[in-house]
Amino acid sequence: MNAEIISVGTELLMGQILNTNARYISGRLADFGINLYYHTTVGDNHDRLKECIRTGFSRSDILIFTGGLGPTEDDLTKETIADYFGLELEINSECKAELIERMTSRGYQCTPNNFKQVMFPREHCIILPNPNGSAPGCIIEMNGNAAIMMPGPPWEMEPMFEASVVPYLQKLSSCRFYSRTLRIFGRGESQVEHDIQNIVDAQTNPTIAPYAKAAETTLRITARCADEEEGDRLIIPVMDAIYQRVGEHVYSSRGLDMHEVCAELLAKNGYKLAVAESCTGGMIASRLISVPGSSAWFVEGAVTYSIESKMNRLGVKAETLEEHTDVSAETAKEMAEGIRITSGADIGISTTGYAGPTGAPNQIGHVFVGLSTAESTESYEFHIKGDRERVRASTTLNALNLLRKLILSKGMYKPDKYMI
Ligand code: ATP
Ligand code: MG
Repeated sequence: MNAEIISVGTELLMGQILNTNARYISGRLADFGINLYYHTTVGDNHDRLKECIRTGFSRSDILIFTGGLGPTEDDLTKETIADYFGLELEINSECKAELIERMTSRGYQCTPNNFKQVMFPREHCIILPNPNGSAPGCIIEMNGNAAIMMPGPPWEMEPMFEASVVPYLQKLSSCRFYSRTLRIFGRGESQVEHDIQNIVDAQTNPTIAPYAKAAETTLRITARCADEEEGDRLIIPVMDAIYQRVGEHVYSSRGLDMHEVCAELLAKNGYKLAVAESCTGGMIASRLISVPGSSAWFVEGAVTYSIESKMNRLGVKAETLEEHTDVSAETAKEMAEGIRITSGADIGISTTGYAGPTGAPNQIGHVFVGLSTAESTESYEFHIKGDRERVRASTTLNALNLLRKLILSKGMYKPDKYMI
């Protein structure tokens, strides 16, 4: 089964928004054994969209559209597709009642153009509910082809995709696919690929696909199988082989982000954390707090950017700053210890460094991370390459990775390597 994604919206062509919908859907299609050979982006234009539909169906069984389901004149995805199939659109009374209810409960009145969103072909059409917006999606099935339409806003599209499109695609696909994702940090992508090349080459089921992200590598291992149990039976031996080569760098085998792993370890061990950030400016705190339930273990985050703040808020000593400067192992340690003690947390973590772009070239990217517990306080030195954002993001990942390792070595909770 072949699919193609058609992203509709002039904004996309103008570079005003990034096509994250195509990325999201592409990533998920791989899980269902559906081949994806083309992405198309087209503006809000009837003729050009129709041309894309014709071309799309000449080479793909399923076309997946996002965007252009709204109430305005330029929203014409559904109209154009219905036109292509020679189907009339008519108001669906159930959807209309829901739309009126939705609008009035929010204090809005429906205008006639709103009803455009609840018009569908009477036949050949499956309506996809949209709990997060006013335009339902739909699937038109005809002549062995399917056109799947979802709204443009990602917070509407993604839940609709998961709730309605995934079950639809799974029914169409003859076999199931099951994936595990290994997340690797501290070893470059080409290194990892080299380390595991002969494992990758020897595999047909499961297959191994490496992806690189800033400073990280992800290995997606996908098995063709009847169910999850069989999937794990096929995948675990391959994961074992990969672990033998690069295991020390794997931080999750469930596709978790580094901050999610830290969150789980903090929660399971009952440790409380406080963060004092200089060059990362709140990035560490922000990542950690993005995890639901973080209030159970996140005590405090302080952005102690100035020298005064490092002294006044954290108690970094004037002599330390004078003797070693604010970007030093000693300062990082005093920062981590200061935030831990003053906040009452079990673990204090700190960052201080030169993010650039101003400053001496040999200083840019020179960073220290401090890590403090009641037993000891350590600092770790890094030389990170790249622009300001990259230095900050990479410092954040390194700091979280150190936190992860500390908790794994110190904590009572010892997760099985395939459970985190
Ligand atoms: P609405 O009812 O909000 O108008 P719609 O289905 O008509 O929804 P569009 O008008 O095409 O969708 O896009 C609405 C918004 O959704 C865009 O302004 C953009 O923020 C977001 N969006 C649209 N397409 C994409 C995409 N491919 N990737 C990411 N975001 C998108
Ligand atoms: Mg719109």
